[in-house]
Amino acid sequence: MAERIDGRARAAEVLEGVKARAAAFSAAKGRLPGLAIVLVGEHPASLSYIRSKEQAAGRAGLYSETHRLPATVAEDALRRFVGRLGEDERLDGILVQLPLPDALRQEEVLAALPPEKDVDGFTTLNQGRLLAGERGLRPCTPLGVIDLLRWHGVRLDGAEVVVIGRSRTVGRPLALMLLEEHASVTVLHSHSQSLSDDVRRADVVIAAAGQAGIVRREMVREGAVVIDVGINRIGGKLVGDVAPDVAEVASAMTPVPGGVGPMTVAMLMANTVEACTWRS
Ligand code: NAD
Repeated sequence: MAERIDGRARAAEVLEGVKARAAAFSAAKGRLPGLAIVLVGEHPASLSYIRSKEQAAGRAGLYSETHRLPATVAEDALRRFVGRLGEDERLDGILVQLPLPDALRQEEVLAALPPEKDVDGFTTLNQGRLLAGERGLRPCTPLGVIDLLRWHGVRLDGAEVVVIGRSRTVGRPLALMLLEEHASVTVLHSHSQSLSDDVRRADVVIAAAGQAGIVRREMVREGAVVIDVGINRIGGKLVGDVAPDVAEVASAMTPVPGGVGPMTVAMLMANTVEACTWRS
């Protein structure tokens, strides 16, 4: 039976580390690292995500403020609002919770964020820095996945890693970060023709497709490590992308909930304290 890779336990350790760095920063500079969270509209999943982020900021000893704007806000007004937060010296990180309502263009809104405060790592500049291998703020979910693999002692150098999903926020940046770790990376997506065969070759399988049960037991090699990024709401229950019986063949696996989710939140706090240190 697969060992459980406990994202909650690791996230608690990460938050302790952030807390110590925040306290040291505050002792030296006389202010806490600051995070602003911007929520537009009332997307139910977003409401629950921002609550976890506010709680984690509190646990990590950061200053945080949340701004809720109506779904009807004009794109220009939102851009100006985000721009003003960007100029606020108390704030080191600004997070615009995605997805935005359909009438707002995500790229245009994110472009109003100063890249040095883009703690989600979604601006074009930070994504370009990742591609170029330059220092920058990296997206939180991929950071959390890499951290969990390292924490569990999984060797990535030379490993065959399959990533299912190529989104700009998860699959793509994760593939680049795995290349930085010297893994051989295969990225699969909705047009891929040989999902089962490719997954079967992998030492590490990372599912980020948002399709419950897309990774099945018979697709996974005995002893592979499986990371489940997916969050699917089925019959009022949260499930991942990996079928539960994959645990019978995998050597280690993350649960949903309690795996990658808490790591994403912890990495946001780590990015905020990192941004704060770079700015000062
Ligand atoms: P997305 O919808 O933007 O991208 C999904 C990707 O999966 C696409 O690239 C698509 O090509 C691929 N895909 C979809 N169906 C497929 C199929 N049948 N076969 C192969 N590939 C397929 O989603 P996203 O934002 O990247 O998120 C992916 C999942 O991860 C979602 O369930 C989301 O809720 C979850 N998520 C979790 C966290 C976390 O902290 N745990 C963070 C972000 C996203």
